[in-house]
Formats: sequence, structure tokens, C-alpha cells
Amino acid sequence: RAAEARFVANNPLSQAQHNLAVASLPGGNTRTLLHTAPFPITMQRGEGAHLWDVDGHKYVDLAGDLSAGLLGHSHPTVQRALHAALAETGLSLGATTPHERRHAALLSARFGLARVRFTTSGTEANLHALAAARRFTGKRGGVVFAGGYHGGVLRDGAALGGGAVVDGLPDNTVDKRDFVVVRRYNDLAMARRVIEAVAARGELAAVLVEAMQGAGGVIPGRSEFLLGVRAAARENGALFILDEVMTSRLAPGGLGAALGLSPDLVTLGKYLGGGLPFGAFGGREDVMAVYDPRLAGAMAHSGTFNNNTLAMCAGYAALKEAYTPEVCVSFNERGDRFREKLRDVARGTRLSITGRGSLIGLHFTEDGLEDIECAEDIKGKERPDLRDLFWFEMLEAGFWTTRRGFLALILETENEELDAFVEAVRDFLERHRQLMLV
Ligand code: PLP
Repeated sequence: RAAEARFVANNPLSQAQHNLAVASLPGGNTRTLLHTAPFPITMQRGEGAHLWDVDGHKYVDLAGDLSAGLLGHSHPTVQRALHAALAETGLSLGATTPHERRHAALLSARFGLARVRFTTSGTEANLHALAAARRFTGKRGGVVFAGGYHGGVLRDGAALGGGAVVDGLPDNTVDKRDFVVVRRYNDLAMARRVIEAVAARGELAAVLVEAMQGAGGVIPGRSEFLLGVRAAARENGALFILDEVMTSRLAPGGLGAALGLSPDLVTLGKYLGGGLPFGAFGGREDVMAVYDPRLAGAMAHSGTFNNNTLAMCAGYAALKEAYTPEVCVSFNERGDRFREKLRDVARGTRLSITGRGSLIGLHFTEDGLEDIECAEDIKGKERPDLRDLFWFEMLEAGFWTTRRGFLALILETENEELDAFVEAVRDFLERHRQLMLV
């Protein structure tokens, strides 16, 4: 309560902005997760790895636009690419362009995709990958995992006619063309059971999975689990689709390549558009051929801004010049070291740390869980009161984190700033010993 009262007192202009925003946006909001009671902080501007809010506070940005802002705010490489595109090309030409071909070739080479198509968001990339799988296999049903996030309309398979959470055979109330949700990520036996049950009904088009669940809690998938899911999908005639919208930043060829997953299709997004609205999907040549307009019966794929010049140029420059394979490796090693420091500080408390490389999850649970394998492990054990207290106090200490505890590092953040955050977390745990010790 006291922390919230200080938050209100410290942020009058954010509160005023919120009061204005509710007149035209439901709840004053257009990205649900950015809503934070009693009102969100309104940001004024960002530069490098820092943000400034309308009340004049400066923050070290540890949220990195939920991972899309990997390069930081207005990275010079992206700025240059955007200025050149504006001056020399134009925004969106309503025609194919060399920029689109160039970015497609770079993504193909980097992520091992035979063919690629562009969209304007990761959500769309997943929807199209699923549409391609459905067309290619002639089947409609599929399997996803609880805690998986594949876009605003795809959480837990909603919008795929699904949403039933199962740990075995889907019951008769679940349409066999639906997508069903496996209750536990990282549980291969359960995944296999569900995949086989759906396939036995003759309707398994695809298994869609993240190699590390991002929005579901930054929970890495064990490689035996992911390899086993791939094998089960293949044995049952389904496509194995890897959602790398968030994880492609974790290794030079994406997390799938680092784990040797060789998926049939991959979906991409976020920083690969240089921080602009972006998505892409691609993979096997025979599967992607369902979109080849030169072939009879090809599927249409449209989208006014799919190949818009700004995202094509910014994304290309970001990947080619700024996020080279070498930078990617050292950046994620830095993330690993940072996460280990946080883990050391948090040991024995109600704060648990998950993640891999430059993506980190902070969890506040009653028992201070040591091993978090899936969203189900955390369910019902969360301490939202501690999570909120942490968020309020980190803001006061000058750190911008997400309320839910998701951190996505920015390339330009200084090591001293990461160390200062570790110290701020240590201070927090010390200050609230009684509350935080398990
Ligand atoms: N898939 C994953 C794994 C994501 O993390 C996200 C976004 O957070 C999406 C898909 C959706 O991407 P977008 O927000 O660009 O639609």
C-alpha cells in the first residue's frame, strides 16, 4: 500500500495521461499487458537502453519492448537504414522490391529456411504457418502447450477453435478439427499421449511449440522434450512448427538451431524488423510451395504492409550489421552471467529466476520454487502482492521492468547497469526479509 501511494504521488503526469486516455481507449490501453494498476507509467521517449517518462524520471530499460527492442531505442544502424529508405525509396510501394528479396535471403541463410514469407506481426506469422500446415497435410487439428503464447489471438490455442486443456485423449466434446492444449510443457510422455490421441482421430496437422516459453514465464524447454515432440509430430504425419518469435535472438541460427531441432516451419518477428511491426514464417520448400502463385491451387497470402520498405530495410540492417552471429553469442553470454548473479542473490527467497541468455523471468511464489518446468508448476502459488511491490520499488530505483516479471535485455545496456540492478534486487530482498524469505 505504501509503495503504491508513493507511486501515485511520484507520477501525477502519468496519472493525468491515463485519465485522458480512458476517454478514447478502453481502460486507457491498447496492449493489455502494459496496463498496471492503479495506472500505467506513460513514457515520453527512449534513447539507447534508457527511457524517460512524462514525469521526468529516467529508467534503465530492462523490458526491451518485451524483446522486440533488442537493439535499444533508435539504434544508429536502424536510424541510418530508415533515413536512407525514407529518402531514397518511400514507405510501401505496392510492388515487390529488392529490399524484400534481400531481407528474405538474409533470414533464410541465418535461420536455415528454404523459403520465407513476411507478415506484419508474429501473431500473423503463426496464423499463416498453421494455415500452411493445414493445407499441406489436408488436416485441421493440432496440438499446442499450456503457457504457450503464439500471439494475441492464439493464447492456448484460442482462435484455432480450440482451448481444451488435456493431458491425454481429448474427450468427445472437443471437435477433432480443433487445436488442443497439452497441460504440461516439458512433459514428453504427456505430449506424446496427446499427439498420438489427436492423430488417431485423423486430424493432426501441426504441433506448434516454443523452444522456450516466453510470455508463459520464460521457461526453457528441455532438449529431450523438444526433440521428442518433434519426433512424435513426424511419426504422426504432422508438421513440427517452432515459434521463434521470441527465441530467435538466443543463438545465431535461433534457439531451434542451437538445440538441433530442424523444424518443418519456423515463425519469426520482433527485433528482426529492426523494431518496426514485423513477422515472418518459413521453412521447408515443399510446405511453403502452398503459397507459390505460379502453381495451380496455391493459397493466397495478402497483407498491405507485408513487404513495407521500412521494416524490410530496418530489419535487414539490424541483423546484418548490428546483431551479427558474434554479437548474438556474446550478448547472450552476458545475459547468462547476469541471470546467474540474480539467481545467487535470490537463493532461499520467494523470488525465482528462470530464462536463457538475454531473456529472464522473475517469479514470486509462496515456496520460492527451485525448478519451474511449466506454467502449471506456478499456478496457484504466485504472490502477486510481492510481484507488485517489487515493480513499484524497482521503478523508484530507476529500473523499468515489466509488472509480470519478464526481462529482455538490450544490446546497449552497460554491465554496470546490470550490476546495479542486481544490487537493487539484493537491497529489496534485504529490506523485505520477513516477506521474502521462504
Ligand atoms: N509468438 C511468441 C513466442 C511471442 O512471444 C509473441 C509476442 O510476444 C508472438 C508470437 C506474437 O507476436 P506479435 O506480438 O508480433 O503479434
